[in-house]
Amino acid sequence: MQGEKIWLSPPHLGGNELKYIQDAFDTNWISQYGSNIDAFEKIIEDHLGYNSFVTALSSGTAAIHLALRLLDVKEGDFVLCQSFTFVASANPVLYQKAIPVFIDSEASTWNMCPNALEDAIKYCLEQGKKPKAIITVSLYGMPFMVDEIIGISKKYEIPIIEDSAEALGSKYKGKPCGTFGDFSIISFNGNKIITTSGGGILISRNQQYKDKALYFATQAKEDKDYYSHSEVGYNYRMSNISAGIGRGQMEVLEDRISKRRENHSFYNEVFKNYDEISLFKEPNNDFFSNYWLNTVIIEENDYEVTKEKIKKIFLENSIETRYLWKPMHLQALFNKYKFFGNNLCGILFDKGLCLPSGTNLSDNDKDKIKSLLINLRY
Ligand SMILES: *Cc1c(COP(=O)(O)O)cnc(C)c1O
Repeated sequence: MQGEKIWLSPPHLGGNELKYIQDAFDTNWISQYGSNIDAFEKIIEDHLGYNSFVTALSSGTAAIHLALRLLDVKEGDFVLCQSFTFVASANPVLYQKAIPVFIDSEASTWNMCPNALEDAIKYCLEQGKKPKAIITVSLYGMPFMVDEIIGISKKYEIPIIEDSAEALGSKYKGKPCGTFGDFSIISFNGNKIITTSGGGILISRNQQYKDKALYFATQAKEDKDYYSHSEVGYNYRMSNISAGIGRGQMEVLEDRISKRRENHSFYNEVFKNYDEISLFKEPNNDFFSNYWLNTVIIEENDYEVTKEKIKKIFLENSIETRYLWKPMHLQALFNKYKFFGNNLCGILFDKGLCLPSGTNLSDNDKDKIKSLLINLRY
């Protein structure tokens, strides 16, 4: 083993993060108020456009929880959720004691299948309860089938919570991910395309919801001169230090997107002559992915190339890989809940692997990865 470990998607600082943190120290605004938070929210509102009202929070998970709260999701309500995702998309449904109903993926984006979604809605309606929300995900940075899913959301008048945790910088028909939901969320966890060390934002479509989100995120404290509360609240606000990191990171976002896309081109080149390994790609020009992670599907083959074999060889060479997200409907935590679809996402989980996709992947790292990949069969 030689050299540094190559990680899947490590944090990659830009340069000005410390300057903004220093500002926070200099002004002694190191808690949940201050100019970094205000600036960070404003920068992202401008970046997204399209009526985006941003509330900076302690995590993406907190943002999903607040979206459910703002939609008045309560005990016993149905919430439709993409099964193929990280557990953070679905956990907040349980925080509210609501009932998740899981939806399969479709093959072109790996995200929510419109047909399975409609079947699930019909099932809920037959139970006499209209679902309260649809949680869509843009997994690995790939936008979901936006037109189709929004069409169904409008037809049945069920709001969308858009989990764009992994999709900052991605677009569908030129419009950014994070602008498609009635509420949208983005995560700034350490492994995402940019980070605040840990944090997230809730994006709502008007100022009233932004104000309400801030209220719930700060213990539902009412505007009086003593501490007055009549509803349950949370301590979910982002700190001014984290927001300082976020300000620095937003300055390098465009560079990070192009680096991730360069990584994708690199893998595309490496895999173009393999019929047993296929790189996951944009289905057509409507989709623009930030390619947060590059993922491959390995079909059964005579060369004994398997995801386990690749993982092992990479590990021996200090290179991190990961299997794809294990779908929620296959998790012990959730397997008592309904699932609609043909288990495409289960098949993807069985066959898929995520490859190193960090923006600090060097040419040396790429050479090392390439030499391992081209020798897989022999
Ligand atoms: C990372 C992630 C989240 C949660 O974000 P945190 O900021 O880590 O709470 C939610 N959904 C998906 C799909 C994610 O990848």
